[in-house]
Amino acid sequence: MAQLGFYINQSLCTGCKACSVSCKDKNNLDVGINFRRVYSYENGTFIQQQSKGLVQNVQAYYYSIACNHCTNPKCIPSCPTGAITKKKESGVVTIDQKVCQGAQLCVKACPYGAPQYNPKEFKSDKCDFCMNLQEKGEEPVCVSTCPMRAIEFGPVEKLRKKYGSISQIKGMPKASITHPNIVITPHKDAKL
Ligand code: SF4
Ligand code: SF4
Ligand code: SF4
Repeated sequence: MAQLGFYINQSLCTGCKACSVSCKDKNNLDVGINFRRVYSYENGTFIQQQSKGLVQNVQAYYYSIACNHCTNPKCIPSCPTGAITKKKESGVVTIDQKVCQGAQLCVKACPYGAPQYNPKEFKSDKCDFCMNLQEKGEEPVCVSTCPMRAIEFGPVEKLRKKYGSISQIKGMPKASITHPNIVITPHKDAKL
């Protein structure tokens, strides 16, 4: 199996957060802990004009993101207990809950905010690409739940061939930091 990645078609995303909620449900996450998050970007304003009344130039769009199972994952060297590993066969990055001591250094090291600290368990955890479902031939639940089919997954090279190589839009961390395995079709109003 090759390096896995996510594809996000930002122009299809309505910001409904079904992906985030289904991930939360599958992973039994407490309030405030989200392995997948949906951010909104908003620009513009309403302007009162004498001749035309109220006009607006508002732009709003959304971005759904989890762990990017990066090629150069900053979370791995940050962990003092060696709890985080990257699988050779799939490139999936996981946190071993038996080894994690809750130091939260991965939380600080990841530019994408992927590892989430659980203060009840004193441990950090994050997206594991739903590997238990993938091993049964099923899709990750964030992918199968999206009503707009805005998220896809698979070998990242295939995704890049199909959709291009954009992995960063304005407002996101520089892709050169961790080389995230994510492919984005930006919203028409998003800046690169
Ligand atoms: S997104 Fe963050 S947690 Fe996930 S592999 Fe990259 S650096 Fe690590
Ligand atoms: S792959 Fe699974 S764990 Fe990762 S964001 Fe999607 S639903 Fe959550
Ligand atoms: S479920 Fe799909 S449409 Fe809804 S927020 Fe997530 S990616 Fe966007």
